[in-house]
Amino acid sequence: MRFVSTAGKAPEASLKEALFAGPAPDGGLYVPERLPTIAPPVGGSFGDTAFAVARALFSDDITEDVLEPIVRESLDFDLPLVPLGDGDGLHSLELFHGPTHAFKDVGARFMARLMLHFLDREATVLVATSGDTGSAVAHAFFGLDAIRVVVLFPRGKVSELQRRLFTTLGGNVSSLSVDGTFDDCQRLVKQAFAERDLQGLVSANSINVGRLLPQTFYYFHLYAQLDASARGSLDVCTPSGNFGNLTAGLMAKRMGLPISQFIAATNVNDIVPAYLKTGAFEPRPSIETLSNAMDVGNPSNFARMLWLYDGSVEAMRRDVVGRAYTDEQTRETIQAVHRRLGYVLDPHSAIGYLGASESQAATRVFLATAHPAKFRETVEPLINDKVPLPPAIQESATRPEYVSAMSADYKSLKEFLTSS
Ligand SMILES: *Cc1c(COP(=O)(O)O)cnc(C)c1O
Repeated sequence: MRFVSTAGKAPEASLKEALFAGPAPDGGLYVPERLPTIAPPVGGSFGDTAFAVARALFSDDITEDVLEPIVRESLDFDLPLVPLGDGDGLHSLELFHGPTHAFKDVGARFMARLMLHFLDREATVLVATSGDTGSAVAHAFFGLDAIRVVVLFPRGKVSELQRRLFTTLGGNVSSLSVDGTFDDCQRLVKQAFAERDLQGLVSANSINVGRLLPQTFYYFHLYAQLDASARGSLDVCTPSGNFGNLTAGLMAKRMGLPISQFIAATNVNDIVPAYLKTGAFEPRPSIETLSNAMDVGNPSNFARMLWLYDGSVEAMRRDVVGRAYTDEQTRETIQAVHRRLGYVLDPHSAIGYLGASESQAATRVFLATAHPAKFRETVEPLINDKVPLPPAIQESATRPEYVSAMSADYKSLKEFLTSS
């Protein structure tokens, strides 16, 4: 598969080049030059469906006997499609059964094994996190010892539960507690890539094609799990922040998956729903909400969405409707869905639920992007009950943490990276 830049001024890249490059040299994002068309598989496990889609995407670059273990080992957990209510067509696609209980495990784990496959020198993955990304990336690379991971996080600003998911790993994972904000952490990572004075640095942020493309797998998987009678009129709602997840869904549709319409659901950071309404894309500083992994004021994958529709808002509107919801609506929904259906939503999935429940399609699916236990400070008072912690999270609460403290300057980061 060849990759081109959304900005249109960079040379074509191979899968390996795009995987290790981060953004394209012209500042655009890499996108597949041409998406293959496939007949959507039905039945089968997530691994089976993922392998069928991966084969269509990557067969030019990786032989099947090498690709299959990459798929099977990275995606060895289930992503069940759970019907809610009494056969009224609403379903939750639970993407949170990976090791860190958020959907980012899918992309991060596949990317890690893809990188290991193409790696021909020592590499350090450098990543800044406010929670979910650091834990998913650290777990994805943990034990793949040819690659070292360094996670930067703002001291005191990541919840203990989130922090322990990456600080208790040890081995090839180092954690740096930065005396500063998340923006400081991100600035330091950006500077490290820009200075080009450190060897073998690799980016694992959400614009990496290695994370984007495997997210198409679970859209096919949701379809594969539906009864034949439920496949006719199908809408899918994706709770969104940087819109990588939704972009993967749009790509799956391009590849032949018969989804009628996507609902792009956001919290009050409604840049994309506003674009769909007015045709104007107007990034602005993000606002803090309960669904904090979606607090994004300048969604990084918007360039890819625009590229898919040749810059036409009318064309995008045929496939995507936008909806935005407040924290108040999020709280009400967590409470009401628990009371009516006995189902516990995290704040991000609650926004997905809201979007899907406004659709008129016979079958409506929302992507449940995080386990409610990860947001139990918000969820438990609303449902007036405990949310049991999954075993992996429980275990990390008792293990020792491996953390180095660092001030928020580039010299300290460089010293750490070159001396340890
Ligand atoms: C990252 C994240 C999102 C947003 O996904 P995007 O691909 O950035 O749109 C939604 N929910 C949760 C729980 C996340 O961690």
